[in-house]
Amino acid sequence: MRKIEHIGIAVKSLESSNELFGKLFGEAHYKVEEVASEGVNTSFFQVGPNKIELLEATKPDSPIAKFIEKKGEGIHHIAYDVEDIRAEMKRLAAEGFTLLNEEPKKGADNKLVCFLHPKTTNGVLIELCQEIG
Ligand code: ZN
Repeated sequence: MRKIEHIGIAVKSLESSNELFGKLFGEAHYKVEEVASEGVNTSFFQVGPNKIELLEATKPDSPIAKFIEKKGEGIHHIAYDVEDIRAEMKRLAAEGFTLLNEEPKKGADNKLVCFLHPKTTNGVLIELCQEIG
């Protein structure tokens, strides 16, 4: 893994959270993108070298809706930038981590992604991200 690519925060309302985090960071979000396959609307903020992703559920059975139901709004995942997602998935599976998808999926912001089950990572949902060339 090369660096933290972004931190994902689950929110109830993207609209009001875009306003809130815009005030917090002193800069508006630069993009809103729906990932229909995951049932989420996302928005992205650039804070110096760091990126923050807000996630809002678009349907009641979306993983984000379930997360908020159980834990409330807050930090949802940490995403790491990887050079070769397939190689990294293979390495982590061999190390005993549980991958939530067997093949990389198309995520937001032009990325291939794979999630690791938090039960194998001390409760932290980890996302691997590879930039799509
Ligand atoms: Zn993410």
